[in-house]
Amino acid sequence: MAGREQAGAARPQASQLVGIPGVGKAVADKLAKLGLRSNEDLALHLPLRFEDETFITPVAAAPHGVSVQCEVTVLSSEVAFRPRRQLVAKARDQAGDLLVLRFLNFYPSQQKLLQAGAHLRVFGEIRNGFFGAEMVHPRCQRIEESEALPQTLTPVYPTTAGVGQATLRRLIERALKLADLSETLPEALLTQHKLAPFAESVHLLHQPPPADFGESIDRVQQKAWQRVRFDELLAQQISLRRSYVRRREHTSVRLPATGQLTNALLSSLPFQLTGAQQRVVAEISSDLAQAHPMQRLLQGDVGSGKTVVAALAMLQAVENGFQAALMAPTEILAEQHYLKLKDWLPPLGVQVAWLTGSLKKKEKEAMLSAVADGSAQVVVGTHALIEESVSFDKLGLAVVDEQHRFGVRQRLALRQKMQDAGTAVHQLMMSATPIPRTLAMSFYADLDVSVIDELPPGRTPIRTRLVAAAKRDQVVGRVHDACKAGRQAYWVCPLIEESETLADLQTAIDTHATLSAELPDIRVGLVHGRMKPDEKSATMEAFGRNEIQLLVSTTVIEVGVDVPNATLMVIEHAERFGLSQLHQLRGRVGRGAAESECILLYAGPLSEMARARLKVIYENTDGFEIARQDLQLRGPGEFIGARQSGLPMLKYADLEDPVLIEAARSAAEMLLKEYPAHAERHLQRWLAGAEELLKA
Ligand code: ADP
Ligand code: MG
Repeated sequence: MAGREQAGAARPQASQLVGIPGVGKAVADKLAKLGLRSNEDLALHLPLRFEDETFITPVAAAPHGVSVQCEVTVLSSEVAFRPRRQLVAKARDQAGDLLVLRFLNFYPSQQKLLQAGAHLRVFGEIRNGFFGAEMVHPRCQRIEESEALPQTLTPVYPTTAGVGQATLRRLIERALKLADLSETLPEALLTQHKLAPFAESVHLLHQPPPADFGESIDRVQQKAWQRVRFDELLAQQISLRRSYVRRREHTSVRLPATGQLTNALLSSLPFQLTGAQQRVVAEISSDLAQAHPMQRLLQGDVGSGKTVVAALAMLQAVENGFQAALMAPTEILAEQHYLKLKDWLPPLGVQVAWLTGSLKKKEKEAMLSAVADGSAQVVVGTHALIEESVSFDKLGLAVVDEQHRFGVRQRLALRQKMQDAGTAVHQLMMSATPIPRTLAMSFYADLDVSVIDELPPGRTPIRTRLVAAAKRDQVVGRVHDACKAGRQAYWVCPLIEESETLADLQTAIDTHATLSAELPDIRVGLVHGRMKPDEKSATMEAFGRNEIQLLVSTTVIEVGVDVPNATLMVIEHAERFGLSQLHQLRGRVGRGAAESECILLYAGPLSEMARARLKVIYENTDGFEIARQDLQLRGPGEFIGARQSGLPMLKYADLEDPVLIEAARSAAEMLLKEYPAHAERHLQRWLAGAEELLKA
């Protein structure tokens, strides 16, 4: 809901490159796909690596397994048809050693290039072929007798099909002469962060001086890379910071704490808030008292107690005569919240309404009118809350649980709903997927973040076991024992696709049938996403009352389910799950005082990645640590996927460097305050097209 989801497709920006010799509309379109529309874009399109074409290696002396450059004269070439159609040329270098050049796919132009008598520089790996030394698909360049060797390393650029290296090199070389690479940062900043000059850095990254060894290129370019990474992060920070500031310019109602209702709730709870809960409650409470809308992300591991924090925030709105809404992505989750709030709030004289798609027409009408006339002060539901028919009397606060699981359209609708409410509504977003620190510092820099970093006391740690699917019988035995001892268990079947499909459903149904047969003296239930909502909640309630002992489910129980007597969880095909999903699922047990266990059944053979991920979940229980390692294993793409749509990805900076991110953040603040024109130019350079997407 951070605003940028309203962005549709990038505003198509005309390419300034059309008309350069060799760049027609077709090439320009392909370049645009790479984000290259101007000389400035080209100058910032940095090489992936270099090839050293500054010297010639004799064929006889070429080390194997390494790309080398040889200079040869073609003796003969022919198209052979066995074992398949291919172009084979025989050539000789100056020392007279034979080199075969082989092309399994080739263009007529290559055939022409390889005519007998042609002088070529060829670049590739030499291996032993049928006729001796050969190169497969070498890069070939026709040369004049005794043509000078390049003085610099040859850059290899990221590209897509259709734009060759030679074209890119030519365009970029040209762009480097024409692009505006003037300094966007004030002197003070350069000195403070010991940054290399921009233009010089860019040139060095495209055209480093010849180096003797691979590593020394890295050393030569180190400061230049640092500069580019800093600049890229800085652009991101400026843009996020700016949208944060702009949003804070909106006014909203002040909802200062009176303590009237919140204190009453606190004294009615059977527990004390943890220190971490108290801290985040205070942060939220002080945001609500401001005259601009809260934009806060509340992060807390599964079971850390976010619901009560949300309840306290909502009560603060109610104390001020406003309504509060709590929206959850699934019916089960919404209902869990509803059941809690229905316990907590009506005794304080606060009316709670419940809105989901599955309500009967009459019930729904009653709810809608209670919401519209303000008699329902707290409203809980699924995205049914943002349907057109829902109109609030005085909405002051919207809480969104697991907000990243809502689709873009739903988030937009919520925004609209809040705009309809008149002044800007305060927003609290909650997430049980911990966002690693560097990510929070970069991609989430436009939100205020509160973290519950402590679990309520009295939880016993969960034991995690990895068990091969071949030993499934033993696991069924464990389930039996646990249920016979009065405990309950979950059995989770995997999702095969992104969202629940019929195949997943069938898996769950089959598993339910199998387990029911294997465990005749255990009451086995089934819950999945395609069930009717009232069937689903009837099953969940039966599980809550221990009328069902073993609950087979698809991943619909992922979040929010709270049955302390459930102490065993079996996850089938754990290797197919994401790490955060496994962590969330595992958080469904270990909610009571009894020791809990999570059994991850896996089917071999495991890929290296699957093995690494299972190891992480096996060795760690802290959600933040798991998220950090997940980020390392997979890169930021999937985390950010949650925010996505238009968010500019970082091309060069990585998220391993909190110090650099922090530096960029403070620089962004400084620029926006003291050098707004510099900030503007800097954004223009880095986010020319994408900035449009970030408007709040
Ligand atoms: P989550 O952050 O995963 O949404 P919940 O809000 O569902 O966690 O809380 C998990 C359980 O812990 C609930 O049963 C809740 O009532 C309980 N709980 C919350 N805060 C505390 C606390 N400070 N002490 C003891 N139990 C708590
Ligand atoms: Mg929750």
